[in-house]
Amino acid sequence: MKAITVIPRQPDSSSLRDVPEPQLGPDDRRGVRVKVLRVGLDGTDKEINAGEYGAPPPGFDYLILGHEGFGVVTEVGPDVTELAPGDHVVAIVRQPGDSVYDRIGNPDFTTDDTYHEHGINLVHGFLTEYYVEQAERLVLVPAGLREIGVLLEPTTVVEKGINQAYEIQRRLKVWQPRRAAVLGAGTVGLLAAMVLRLRGLDVTVLALEEGPYLNSELVEALGARYVSTRQVSMEQAAESHGPFDLIFEATGFSPLAFQAMGALGRNGVLVLASVTGGDRRVEIPSDALNLGFVLGNKVMVGTVNASRRDFEASVANLASSEARWPGWATRLLTHRVDGLTDCPKAFELLGSPGVIKAYVQVSDLD
Ligand code: BGC
Ligand code: ZN
Repeated sequence: MKAITVIPRQPDSSSLRDVPEPQLGPDDRRGVRVKVLRVGLDGTDKEINAGEYGAPPPGFDYLILGHEGFGVVTEVGPDVTELAPGDHVVAIVRQPGDSVYDRIGNPDFTTDDTYHEHGINLVHGFLTEYYVEQAERLVLVPAGLREIGVLLEPTTVVEKGINQAYEIQRRLKVWQPRRAAVLGAGTVGLLAAMVLRLRGLDVTVLALEEGPYLNSELVEALGARYVSTRQVSMEQAAESHGPFDLIFEATGFSPLAFQAMGALGRNGVLVLASVTGGDRRVEIPSDALNLGFVLGNKVMVGTVNASRRDFEASVANLASSEARWPGWATRLLTHRVDGLTDCPKAFELLGSPGVIKAYVQVSDLD
């Protein structure tokens, strides 16, 4: 079968290659064979293709790319009761390692030095025709959500961060968040606005571009507010639309994490979700930011990846979103690449104007 592969750490090495087709072996009692339908692409894929990180599975010199999968079950092992052929599924990205967090089902909190992630680190991904995974690492997606199932993985990353914020704020006994800010209006920022609106918050999304354009329209369609930071500073936005009880940072631009510290309200929580691989340095008003955090009892938390809980909650989030704003999530799927062969073109799309989510249609949905 075909697969899009990279030689990790070698820039621009992506290519279409023939790879062995995985089958369920006689000992794969809990194994599930999945036919890939769609695979979403994001900045992580672009960075792996640029040679910035990633590692092949042991015994391979290449890595099958793709971690935002969506597929359909074609075969299950004899001990699988929770899934059947025809079920739509998304695979959990990170596999358990050895730390105590891994052992309680939270590999997203691993303290191991190396983590195993489909299509990213040490485990093959989904930009191929079939894969085999253990049933406990697959999440069922109702057929009614198949059009937007490819958005599940990025939604899990958002859901984990927001759920963590709520978990942390239990410290306050009566936390009643009213106003949230989301920094960035890409896929993750838009999904964060969606999840926060579902939780009933007044949401302000701050991003560079001046509206109206598709992303600002999508923000407003949720009943959230779009503010261009070309027109209004983060400080001014906090004055007009804050105090912000929760800020979700998803711009990919690390200096904004420190600006956000200044815009956070008392007892607020700042969630940092941008993976910033560079080595940028900035000068910050450290006394003022520190003082604000101390006197305001504020919290800042980093978040990566997602657990099974977040995948299941995200299925519910997408279903609620469809019920409340029908067709909204589908509008995020701006660029479809047909078939595995066209993948290099897909990398060019990433980060281009007008592109929210680019995905590869590997096989027909029906
Ligand atoms: C993925 C996460 C992953 C992170 C770090 C993101 O693009 O969506 O699942 O944990 O990269 O590798
Ligand atoms: Zn990702």
